Amino acid sequence: MKHTSLWLDGIKAIKEPILKENIKCDVLIIGAGISGISTAYHLRGHNLNTVVVDKNEIGHGITSRTTGKITYLQETIYSDLKNKYSKEIAKKYLYSQKDAIELITSIVKKHHIDCNLDRVSSYVFSSKKSQIEKIKEEKKLLEEFKIEVEKTTFEKKYAIKVDDTYVFHPLKYILKLKEICKEDGIKFYEHTDINYLKKDDNYYICGNELVEIRAKKVVFACHYPYFLFPFLMPLKCTLEKSYIGVAPILEIKSYSGISAGKPTISIRYLKDKENYMFYLSDSHFLSEELDFKKHFEHIMKAFYKMNLKPKYLWSNHDIITFDKLPFIGKLEANSSLFLETGYNTWGMTNGSLAGKIIADMILDIYNPYESLFSPLRKLKISALPNNIYSNAKSMIDSKVDKNKNWYPDNVYFHDNLATYVDKFGKEHTVYNICPHLKCSLLFNEVEKTWDCPCHGSRFDLDGKVIIGPSNYSITCKQKKDLL
Ligand SMILES: Cc1cc2nc3c(=O)[nH]c(=O)nc-3n(C[C@H](O)[C@H](O)[C@H](O)COP(=O)(O)OP(=O)(O)OC[C@H]3O[C@@H](n4cnc5c(N)ncnc54)[C@H](O)[C@@H]3O)c2cc1C
Repeated sequence: MKHTSLWLDGIKAIKEPILKENIKCDVLIIGAGISGISTAYHLRGHNLNTVVVDKNEIGHGITSRTTGKITYLQETIYSDLKNKYSKEIAKKYLYSQKDAIELITSIVKKHHIDCNLDRVSSYVFSSKKSQIEKIKEEKKLLEEFKIEVEKTTFEKKYAIKVDDTYVFHPLKYILKLKEICKEDGIKFYEHTDINYLKKDDNYYICGNELVEIRAKKVVFACHYPYFLFPFLMPLKCTLEKSYIGVAPILEIKSYSGISAGKPTISIRYLKDKENYMFYLSDSHFLSEELDFKKHFEHIMKAFYKMNLKPKYLWSNHDIITFDKLPFIGKLEANSSLFLETGYNTWGMTNGSLAGKIIADMILDIYNPYESLFSPLRKLKISALPNNIYSNAKSMIDSKVDKNKNWYPDNVYFHDNLATYVDKFGKEHTVYNICPHLKCSLLFNEVEKTWDCPCHGSRFDLDGKVIIGPSNYSITCKQKKDLL
């Protein structure tokens, strides 16, 4: 079994250079996931010098670990938005998701992108009474919005279904978009991180220890922003982690399904050279659970019950905003800094849409969703104490729990260092403190990564940062010198 995402297995991407000299550009996009690449795509052909940089390999962020559903049936989001805001806001969000689906499918069609795009039905299901009531409310609301929704069952559970939704291979899609952007002169650099932002009279100045980029406009498409100011992201969102297994299967089904209520169960199929079934479960807030292994074991049990043997197993996390609406728009009023994130696990539609909204804002084109997703909207203050509590809790828990007995004997801690001894007896020692906000890191025994329980940074066995917000690695080569 491979402890990696199926999307990353066997994909041969064209390598991009590392940025080695100082440059100037009109638009700098930081982050090449679905958000950043979609933004670049919509900026093509407008005579702008656009540059995209990614600290890792292009496309290897959260987008490469998703389940890749393109759907507007997103648990019970519309009744949630109606209750939090209004029917009008719920309706506008629905239209935005329908438009995003149209956007993705028309791009695939226009450029003949081979990305396993399949039209499938989407289900939301539950067997819990309270959730069934919510699903019924969702159906009623969708019907008011003139959407055809069928009441049905999903694996013997109460369910509703719509038919005009899709699944695809997210990495094949964004890698092809990248090639289209390059043909139109957009430059991509990988293994190039941005870890500061300054400003002079004419430019924003971003860069790292080696290079500097001067840009008139900057788009932060880096999932969880690496900076604290401006915006104070940790106070405005939480993170949800889920576990995914993928097993070969003889016959695929032409549907995808997701449960209402937590923990989430999500299912989809992939038609390829080999057919696969995806099973996601055990979702939890990052701060609520520190024992990852237990959740991987649940996934394995679920597959054994289905008589299936998973070939891939991995985990992934996404940003959850307090009002369930993404943050897409200006980071500060009167600035040319833009943010695209906070998709509440629906980043295929929202990331694609973010690309269009931000490109429209940069090009001064009216976009109907600009105000809906503005990061500057007023968030309910009542959520703040909860979030400060959850941030503090995960930080303290991480310190207390790091020596818990669920670690195997080959993982041990000493001062601020942690060592994993691999099956060949080789020691891999890292600093055990996340460079972002100093939480203690937890060992993810299944994927062999060091994971931050506070804001989601992940590092490989030897300390190289794989996923932000941390911009820095926790590498520690000379353990003996440090002890
Ligand atoms: C388990 C799970 C399942 C999901 N399934 C679905 C689904 O079925 N359908 C759906 O719509 N959504 C789904 N999502 C949500 C979706 O995957 C994400 O919302 C989306 O992929 C986020 O895309 P992104 O471009 O914002 O981030 P990313 O893909 O992470 O891209 C950000 C990029 O920025 C780079 N970066 C970060 N910091 C810096 C820096 N300082 N300098 C340079 N580069 C930097 C990173 O290396 C990365 O490549 C799922 C999420 C999870 C957790």
